[in-house]
Amino acid sequence: MLTLVALAAAGVLFFALTLPRAPLRVEPWPGSDLAARTISGAYHIHTTRSDGLGDKAAVAAAARRAGLTFAILTDHGDATRPPDPPAYMNGVLMLDAVEISTDEGHYVALDMPRAPYPLGGAADAVVEDVARLGGFGIAAHPDSPKPALRWTNERAAVDGFEWLNTDSEWRKDSQLRLVRAGIAYFFRPGPGIATLFDRPSATLQRWDRMTGTRPVVALAAADAHGGVGSRAEDTGKSFSGMIGIPSYEASFRAFANRVVLDRPLSGNAPEDARAVYGAIRSGRVFTAIDALAGPALLDFTVEGGLDRNAMGSVLGEDSDGTLIARATLPRDADLILIHDGRDVGRGRDEIRRVVTGAHGTFRVEVRMPGAPGSPPVPWLVSNPVYFVNPIPRAAAPAAVPPPPAIAPFPWRIEKDPSSSAVLRTSDHDVALEYKLGDGARNSQFVALATDPQRQTFSAIDLWLAGDRPARISVQVRRAGGERWGRSYYVDPGGSSLHVPLADLRPIAGTTLASTSSADLASLLLVIDLTNAAPGRSGVLRVKASALSK
Ligand SMILES: [Zn+2]
Ligand SMILES: [Zn+2]
Repeated sequence: MLTLVALAAAGVLFFALTLPRAPLRVEPWPGSDLAARTISGAYHIHTTRSDGLGDKAAVAAAARRAGLTFAILTDHGDATRPPDPPAYMNGVLMLDAVEISTDEGHYVALDMPRAPYPLGGAADAVVEDVARLGGFGIAAHPDSPKPALRWTNERAAVDGFEWLNTDSEWRKDSQLRLVRAGIAYFFRPGPGIATLFDRPSATLQRWDRMTGTRPVVALAAADAHGGVGSRAEDTGKSFSGMIGIPSYEASFRAFANRVVLDRPLSGNAPEDARAVYGAIRSGRVFTAIDALAGPALLDFTVEGGLDRNAMGSVLGEDSDGTLIARATLPRDADLILIHDGRDVGRGRDEIRRVVTGAHGTFRVEVRMPGAPGSPPVPWLVSNPVYFVNPIPRAAAPAAVPPPPAIAPFPWRIEKDPSSSAVLRTSDHDVALEYKLGDGARNSQFVALATDPQRQTFSAIDLWLAGDRPARISVQVRRAGGERWGRSYYVDPGGSSLHVPLADLRPIAGTTLASTSSADLASLLLVIDLTNAAPGRSGVLRVKASALSK
């Protein structure tokens, strides 16, 4: 009996000693208006609209209890649902965004109107669509331990990057660590979640490399579902006993994004949404792990002459200035200055660094002793200031008039049995009037096809127009059925496409060997379910088409 009591006592003592401590209280700066302009919010949240367990009101209530000012919902979708207008619920500014599945990972689009067709398919096509629609796109859980969830595209010009994602963090942990976190969660939910965090070194390095060529805003993603019960991304796993854990509130108490505004919020939802999105777009946002310490404040600027440039600013290469960073610091924590991914300075209250002819990026972190993980997760991560001449985003090709007197190919129709199409040829164009088959998704497609007879070419030139915004896949096919293709946007006003064979990617087959066009049997302009719903009808016009050597 005595042994049992002793064992139980030892067990209680063990867990008490290994329990995460309550968040440290950090002394805020007296008299600074920065606190009133720095608001915290959760980003990357799922509700019952996709695979989350709570509705919008439940999320707002949880955000309120966690002391947040805004929450960005990111339910899974193809962006054809109009986003809810910004609104205050329970005193929390609720913003509605969408997480889009691409062939190379998930891409969250913020601040974007409804898309005119379903977004999906190749990652670079979705990134291009989000940019054209005026949205701000963030590569989600880029280094998820689950390969299917990783962001594997390295070329597309994403606007943002999740440096920390709760879902990615727990997936890499051992059973023992998860059990300990579960026990800790029971006593201290937010700190319990934070015991699962490590410094995501590879993700931070990847982000540091990306920011060498253009701004990429880093955010921390709660990836909150209100529990791990029934997420669409993870149908293989069953957590039936753990419905509701971690709760939205616990996720929101683990960490938050801090947006630094020009002035405090007004209480007018549309106006405040513009201010929050504006700050995120310009990189005036940082992360703090609230489960470790708080409140977090950061003042990070570059002074040059009379100018004061905020965090996120893009100064050209070879600029001069003085970097000034000040942050609220937990006891024994260090403020670190990082240049192109390498630590170059360390301080307590303030870091001041004169730079002349600067190149690359500077950002700051606050590292505190006792933070969980190996290596330990940083308590605070800023966005950079950039001494970079950004590579401009590839501009949409100018709508040049079609070259005259190019004989159109003899086009014909290919389609699945449920879809219908007719071809109308006039003096000035070939018009494909199509309707994809109704009903369930069953690989419906309609294509314009033509058969280049043993011609040698390295690119296809097309002048196309649609009856409304659309995407088509330009494809080539060998006699054996192997296909290569690439998705292109077609504007109602007309789009001229230059399609080098070398840019096409395998659809069914291997990499296209050189530009051996002679054995390409067919060329296809395909409308399929990648960017159209079943039942969709429309018109695709070919105003000119040519093969170039
Ligand atoms: Zn996702
Ligand atoms: Zn998600």
